Amino acid sequence: MIKRALAGLSLAELQNVLQTLPAFRVRQVFHWLARGVSSFEAMTELPVSLRQDLANRFSLYSTIVSQRIEDSDGTVKLQLSLHDHTRIEAVLLSDGAGRKTACLSTQVGCPVACVFCKTGSLGFSRNLSYPEIVEQFLRLSSITDLANIVIMGMGEPLLNLEALCSALVVLTSDLGISRRRITISTSGIVKGIRELADKGPGARLACSLTTADPALRERLMPIARANPLPRLHDALAYYQQKQGQRLTLEAVLLGNLNTRETDAAALGAFVRGLDVVINLIPWNPIPGLCFEGKPLREPRVREVERFSTLLEQQGIPVTRRFRKGASIAGACGQLGVMVSETTA
Ligand code: SAH
Ligand code: SF4
Repeated sequence: MIKRALAGLSLAELQNVLQTLPAFRVRQVFHWLARGVSSFEAMTELPVSLRQDLANRFSLYSTIVSQRIEDSDGTVKLQLSLHDHTRIEAVLLSDGAGRKTACLSTQVGCPVACVFCKTGSLGFSRNLSYPEIVEQFLRLSSITDLANIVIMGMGEPLLNLEALCSALVVLTSDLGISRRRITISTSGIVKGIRELADKGPGARLACSLTTADPALRERLMPIARANPLPRLHDALAYYQQKQGQRLTLEAVLLGNLNTRETDAAALGAFVRGLDVVINLIPWNPIPGLCFEGKPLREPRVREVERFSTLLEQQGIPVTRRFRKGASIAGACGQLGVMVSETTA
């Protein structure tokens, strides 16, 4: 029989599972788990007999690290094998100032199927449970101290809203991470954005707009048909009004596709009434991905610069995402490609 894993559970659920133990002991176990301990044996404050008893009845983690790869730019990608042998990836990113960010997955695969994304091309297997989301954070935080969390790994977080919200409660209430240090990225699920605005803990929101040309968006991101731009705009405005924070709009730039002057003008029109920064992400190549029969391609450097200028000329703040972890397929939209596959 598979033993129940304790890492990733909320403090309340841990209290429930370990109800025969006094509250202070449960808190000690929780703190060891939060530190990413590697065995029950290592929980040195606990009596030896209790450590043995816990090890007999429970496992620490529900996942196994099936692969760990590091890039020379400081990116670390963990491939985690789940109890049902499906796999996800969690990535540790490092910025120029040495601050570390954990990038977490919420689903195995993704049902949204954006044409430019590797995860989307894998199809959808299942939602992650909330402990499986928190466990990714614990695994990464045992490598180093983490400054930020981005929910930008595999999957669409707002299509797994219940587990996402439970994970956010553990991260903010039990593990004490400020909600301002957590960013959730969505492909633009209107219902989910509104629910998160009403119920969520006030994390930062990023929306993968990609383009504000409605016809092109529907061709690139099929989810846009059921979540049209005017309704998406209203949902983002609602989120902003409720949570009061600047939003990020992500735009993956695809060579010769969504970098036209008309795309910049459409983005300018879309952001009216919103306080946003637009994050430009030059497309990270994924072999084999095509759009309507033609291979997708990276934008040229000049193309990105020109597009950025067109937005800035409209007074829109722009940031550029530089590629991290590309050589280990740990960059945006590449999750699901293991290095052995990419180099084979
Ligand atoms: N499903 C969520 C979060 C995960 S995707 C979402 O779509 O927002 C994280 C980001 O990576 C999104 O902004 C997405 O548009 C971007 N992305 C996907 N494929 C990419 C690729 N090949 N190159 C660069 N960015 C990509
Ligand atoms: Fe899913 Fe996001 Fe990839 Fe689209 S970009 S397929 S929503 S993971």
